[in-house]
Amino acid sequence: MQRVCVVCGDAFYIADSAEYEDDADLGECACPCGGEEFGVAVGFAFRGDGEVRWVSVGLRCLKDGGLGVYADWKIDYGPTAHLLEMA
Ligand SMILES: [Zn+2]
Repeated sequence: MQRVCVVCGDAFYIADSAEYEDDADLGECACPCGGEEFGVAVGFAFRGDGEVRWVSVGLRCLKDGGLGVYADWKIDYGPTAHLLEMA
C-alpha cells in the first residue's frame, strides 16, 4: 500500500509494502462519497511475544469524514520492530 502526499505528490510505501510492489496491482482508494483525499493512520496488532502480527491502514475522508480500514495484511516473519518505523 502506498500513500501519496496531496500537497507535494511524494509517494511512500507503508510498512513493508515496498517488498511486494512487483506483485501489486495498485488502485486508488475512494470514499463512497467520491472523496479521494484522506488522513492516514496505520495500526499494528501484536503477537504475544511483542512482534507485529497484522498491519491495518485506516483512512479518514477529508471531504465527509468517513472512516474505513482500506487495507490490512498479516506479517508472518520476525523480527518486526522495523515496521514501526516505516508507517
Ligand atoms: Zn467521503
